[in-house]
Amino acid sequence: MKVTKDTVVKFHYVLKTAEGDVIEDSSKSDPIALLFGHKNMIQGVEDALEGKEAGEEFSVTVNPENGYGEYLEEAIQRIPAKHLQGAKTWKPGMVGVVNTEQGQRQVTVLKVGKFMITVDTNHPLAGQVLNFDINILEVRAAEEEEISHGHAHGVGGHQH
Ligand SMILES: [Zn+2]
Repeated sequence: MKVTKDTVVKFHYVLKTAEGDVIEDSSKSDPIALLFGHKNMIQGVEDALEGKEAGEEFSVTVNPENGYGEYLEEAIQRIPAKHLQGAKTWKPGMVGVVNTEQGQRQVTVLKVGKFMITVDTNHPLAGQVLNFDINILEVRAAEEEEISHGHAHGVGGHQH
């Protein structure tokens, strides 16, 4: 079976920077179970997976526009400290959560003041060219319930 809309693809991946430094390696945990065609994964990886089958191994380079977006200077903002959730005291480099109109968002702390904190709301991988080594383990038709939920169930997916 080929990867197409409404299939669940199970895969391992190694994510590296353009320089070859490993950022993430899924082989240390469960494989990813992805409900394909539901925008659960960055565009560059979805494009590369489409039409592939179990047993295929390949690499793909993803540019920011098909990845986590360009790095935006205006995404650096000062927010009231009380709006930042996840820790009691903050230091530069820590990651916190803010509630926005689009839902919860992870932000990186840049500078800590008494009442205001400067945060970077760019995705940590924004602006980076990324390399993925992908190893497809399994491709199966999605269950009706998975399609209605918009995500895969079972190992590597949502456990309800
Ligand atoms: Zn579900």
